[in-house]
This record gives sequence, C-alpha cells and structure tokens, in this order.
Amino acid sequence: MAKLPDGSEKGLKGHFMEDFSVRTRTGLAPRAGHIERNAPYKRIATEEAWTFPALVKAQVEYLQSGDAPGDDSLRMAGMFSRMPSLQSMLQDLGALRLAHMDELGIARQLLLLTAPGVQVVRPGEGTALAREANDIAAEACRNHPTRFSALAAFDPRDVAGSVRELERAATDLNLNGAVLNSHFQGHYIDEREYFPILEALEALDLALYIHPTAPYNAPHYETRGFFGALAGFPHDVWLHTMGLIFSGAFDRFPKLRLVIGHMGECLPMHLYRFDWMQGNADGRPGMRGLAEPIKLQHPVSHYFHSNIWITTSGVGWEPAIKFCMEVMGPDRVLYAMDYPYQQSSDEVAVYDRLRIPDADKKLLMEDNAREVFRITG
Ligand code: MN
Repeated sequence: MAKLPDGSEKGLKGHFMEDFSVRTRTGLAPRAGHIERNAPYKRIATEEAWTFPALVKAQVEYLQSGDAPGDDSLRMAGMFSRMPSLQSMLQDLGALRLAHMDELGIARQLLLLTAPGVQVVRPGEGTALAREANDIAAEACRNHPTRFSALAAFDPRDVAGSVRELERAATDLNLNGAVLNSHFQGHYIDEREYFPILEALEALDLALYIHPTAPYNAPHYETRGFFGALAGFPHDVWLHTMGLIFSGAFDRFPKLRLVIGHMGECLPMHLYRFDWMQGNADGRPGMRGLAEPIKLQHPVSHYFHSNIWITTSGVGWEPAIKFCMEVMGPDRVLYAMDYPYQQSSDEVAVYDRLRIPDADKKLLMEDNAREVFRITG
C-alpha cells in the first residue's frame, strides 16, 4: 500500500472511486492479476493525464460566462473540475503520482495535458496557458528524470504562437512530442491554415499525439450518454486521423509522426476496407472546398505503416493487442495506461502474461516509446 503525502496509507482504487463510485468491472475486464516486479522491461505508460489549477480556472470561468455555447469539450472540463479526487490525481506531479506508479509497476509516465486542454479556453488565452503548462511539465521531468517525460501543449487556434511554443518546447525544454486534444470548436488540424503547425512538428522531430475529446455540439451523443469512450471519443479521433491522411499531410510532411491511443481508436481493424474504398475521397475534385483534387501518393494502409503509431490505452485485452501488432507491426504499438482515468493492476498483469515473443513485449512496453518519443534514460 502506498504512503501518501498526508501520511495516510490509501489504496489506489479507494482514492479514485470517490469520484467514480458507480464504476464496475464486468464482462471482458480481467478479474485479478499479479504484477511482475522483476519484469525484463521497464513499463513506460504513454498516455498519462495531468492538469494544473490556472487552466482549470480558465476553463471554468469561460464555461460559466456562457460565451462558448455548443462546446461540449468545455462542458466536459467543467464536469472534471467538480471531481475533487480526480483533480488531486491530475494535478499532482510528485509524491502521489509516483506512489501510484510504484503500486502499479509503472517505471515512467509520458505526461499529456488532459483533454480538453488549452484549446477550449477563451480565444487569445490559450498560448500563454500552453507556455505555463510546458514549463510545469518540464520542471516535473527535471525533478524526476527517470520517472517522467512529457508532451508539449499548444493552442492550434493561434498558429504562429503554436509554432513558436513548439520550437521552445523542443529546443529549450527538451519535451518529447506534442499533444492535441482532437477537434477545437469543430475544427481539425488537417485544415490548410494549420499546416504550418504540422510543418513545425516535422522539422522539430516532435511526434504529435492526438488524444480524444468530446464531440462538438453533438446532442445525439450526449442524450445517449455516449460523448466519451463509448462513441464520441473514438469517432472524433477517427475523423481527425483519416482527415490528416486524406489531406495529403503525410505526403507533404513524410517524416511527420502521428500517435493515436485506445488501440488506434479501432482504425487498424479497417485497414483492408480503407484501401478498398480509398476512391470515395481520394482524388475527387471539390473536396474540402478546394477546386483541385488531393490525390494520395500511397494506399491508406501505407500511412499506418509509415507515419502512424498506436497506443493500447484503456484496452488491456490480449486479442486486440495481438491483432494490432500483427497488422501494424510490433514496432508500431505502444503500451499506455490512461492514468488516472482507467488504471488497474489487473490490466498491468494482462501485459505481463501476454503470449507474445519476449522481444516484441519489450518493444510494446518500453522500446517503442523510447523510439517514437525520443526518450532516453
Ligand atoms: Mn487518455
């Protein structure tokens, strides 16, 4: 049992369940598991969430002003702000988080500013908050160089400011990539005006992680309880990823690295059909309002073998992990936990028990993360 900063000894589940008391594990979720304490790999978890008080304050103030109607991502931020034990875990980059990592056997977390991040605050405030976020994350990495790495936040609505901040994050702060919490008020980074950000990411050798957020103004999700992981989250990242491919971004920026979570948001299952149906969008004039057609240089599946990596966040399920490793290659699937939203020692144990070659397991748990996010130490 981990010792917490207040001196109490509080189990991980007990800490979390104050906010998620109705959550139960049923069906396919593992029942119990033993974490291997001397595993021949270091577990690097690559989609681990954090936030900080000034950002939560800016989100809540903008939400309460009523000036951003229809932004369900901003409403989601408001919902998270009212969960005190979740916030205590998201906002800690020290003893509490490290205690939970020790309990779960996680050697290193890759920190991502949690959805919806800086891209939902009042326009004009996002880049300053991104700068503050990146300074805080870099300090945590300096304080705990063997335990934390971090991705840079940016507000894509401010293109020039984002490019400058990404340059600072890469050169001054030594951060390990960048995170975008999917759409921003219904806009996507595959739109031409945001291409300078993609160009900067490629030039700076920073991988882009597109993490889900709630769909924009989507009552058909909300009324069914589906705005999150049950539909809205994966659907939005699916659109974002396919949008990037069919925008020609990877032909224009062939070294651009994209990472998507939650077992590739189900996309790997469809590679065969994507190639078959490519002509629905590829090379057609008039798409995206452009007179000239965008014609891809490769089959859709090519980009999943050249530019895209996936993480396993929230899907500690052997058949899905093995399938993705088979169709994308063992060097393109990375372990992630999704702390603190979905942590479980039973899920960690699933990875320890996976029936795959030892070399592939080390790629999955450690080495692919080092390669994609340029992690050393
Ligand atoms: Mn996540």
